[in-house]
Amino acid sequence: MNGDVMNKKAYFVGIILIVSLLFLTGLYGISQGQEKFDYDFLIKNARIFNGSLKPAFKADIAVKDGIIVKVERSVKGRAKRIINANKLFVAPGFIDLHTHVDRGMYFPENRACLNYLKQGVTTVVVGQCGRSAWPIFESAKELIEDWNEEGIGPNAALLVGHGQVREMVMGMENREPTPEELEKMKVLVQEAMEQGAHGLSTGLEYLPGRYGKTDEVIELVKVIAPYGGIYHSHMRNEGERLLDAVNETIAISRESGARAHISHFKAVRKKNWGLVKDASALIDEARKNGLEITADQYPYRFSSGNPYRGLIPRSLWLGLTKYEGLDSSDLKDVFDHLRDAQLLELYQKVTPYFPLSQSHQQFLDGLSRKRLVQFVGGHLISASQFQGPSNTRERKHFIERMKDLKFAERAKKGIEQYIDASLAGPENIIVGICVEKKLEGKSLSQVAAMKGKSIGETAIELELMGARCVPLRMSEEDVEYIMKKNYVATGSDGTTPFYGIGLLHIRSYSTFLHKIKKYALQRKSVSVPHVIRSQTSLAADIMNWEDRGWIKEGFKADIVVFDLDNIQIKTTISNPHQYSEGVKYLFINGVLVLDNGKFNDKLPGKVILLKKSL
Ligand SMILES: [Zn+2]
Repeated sequence: MNGDVMNKKAYFVGIILIVSLLFLTGLYGISQGQEKFDYDFLIKNARIFNGSLKPAFKADIAVKDGIIVKVERSVKGRAKRIINANKLFVAPGFIDLHTHVDRGMYFPENRACLNYLKQGVTTVVVGQCGRSAWPIFESAKELIEDWNEEGIGPNAALLVGHGQVREMVMGMENREPTPEELEKMKVLVQEAMEQGAHGLSTGLEYLPGRYGKTDEVIELVKVIAPYGGIYHSHMRNEGERLLDAVNETIAISRESGARAHISHFKAVRKKNWGLVKDASALIDEARKNGLEITADQYPYRFSSGNPYRGLIPRSLWLGLTKYEGLDSSDLKDVFDHLRDAQLLELYQKVTPYFPLSQSHQQFLDGLSRKRLVQFVGGHLISASQFQGPSNTRERKHFIERMKDLKFAERAKKGIEQYIDASLAGPENIIVGICVEKKLEGKSLSQVAAMKGKSIGETAIELELMGARCVPLRMSEEDVEYIMKKNYVATGSDGTTPFYGIGLLHIRSYSTFLHKIKKYALQRKSVSVPHVIRSQTSLAADIMNWEDRGWIKEGFKADIVVFDLDNIQIKTTISNPHQYSEGVKYLFINGVLVLDNGKFNDKLPGKVILLKKSL
């Protein structure tokens, strides 16, 4: 049938109706066009990476009511808005399998997660590394309602955190749970699953997650298995004992019957580089045996939410043997004389979770005196704030001691050993922020050569001038080896910060576009479709989502339209708060949020719930 004829007919019928209506109501002079549209959006002339490993193909995409309704070489019909994607590429919106944006999203001004929208991210998985909204600070129910009502940028799927659950039941106790305690933890995990959590996350390298033994985790993962939940693991070790940690994750999947997913897969510290090959072999073997083990990765050689590290070991600031500095036990003394009520009053002055919810209050009331002092003290002050070059006493003593030539020699040697053993060597330490701007971006080796000084002397000079350096803790070879695996998706491990405030890993601003630009376009380690698949259809598959992750008819209209040839990663370790450029249009659930690269303040993201009740 001819669409134009249909449109004309509809037009005439419309005119007659409007004229009659105006006569009837007497509203002559106020006219309202009642145009009929076939689609909300029509993206024309796009080159589409649809989520598969195939090269891009040319087609139009029609979107209506949040759904991709047509993907054809040429789509006819009327759309409220036509976007000409000539010279641009289109992909399913990127899915970030591992982020900590939920911390930032507590603050309404960060709900958009603009740093992620600018990378083309349309869905995030939160509640990671054992920390989650469940169940301490608010019930997840409240959080889900708030987010759905007030709106969020990307869609969000939630996990329940093992560390959070354990802390709620057992505090920070380093022991196995009693049968009653384990039962309580299981009930909390089940509650979260009933509310729509997608599974359980652990942070087995952190406290209190670390106190949980394998059996405890298996018992909790058994709770999520019948729901079809997935176990996301920040594993017990990512260095020397990486293989043990991978084996533990595989065992947890085997014993519980749930899928297991390794978060931020990597091997840290130089002496462990290459271990990812053996680790991958273990995963390959488990997958061959029918277990569903997957992983995600962030495409950088440096790790940690704040990757900047001092170049002088702690012990050297005050002396080689005797420790004389401030530590956390001193801070305990500072707060120990306060009464409980005074501590709580102080806490209320600093916690972002104010006013306190009932469950938060209950949590505080349940803390032992010792825990309360630690908890409140830790929120107010940390010993590391007063250590190193910014502590005038430590600085003065260090400089005085360095006048003793014997001490100075030993100190420089000690620093060089520390740099080799703990920080991956001087060629793998990059100056991030420095008053001598010309040093930024240079390695410690390069700076030493420029200054004609030893590594130890250069490190001391940089520290005393307040330079901030980033050690590259992973090898490029490992990063690429992991990336090539067909079960490795993308997880930024980033956060959504207050723009411009504080130092953080540049992954929060660049992961998804950086992976395409550096590893597909520049180094050609993998193809562009391989990267796109790793951050779209593979990720959806891992989470068991059947309506996201593809540019296909019937799928949710999470769509990124980007300029592949003009991706600009602006964030650097010298200036981390910089949005990435290259995403021209971004749709979330069929709503445009980035229009010609500009955010339009819409928050169409939804909480994606795992809907299965037992
Ligand atoms: Zn983690």
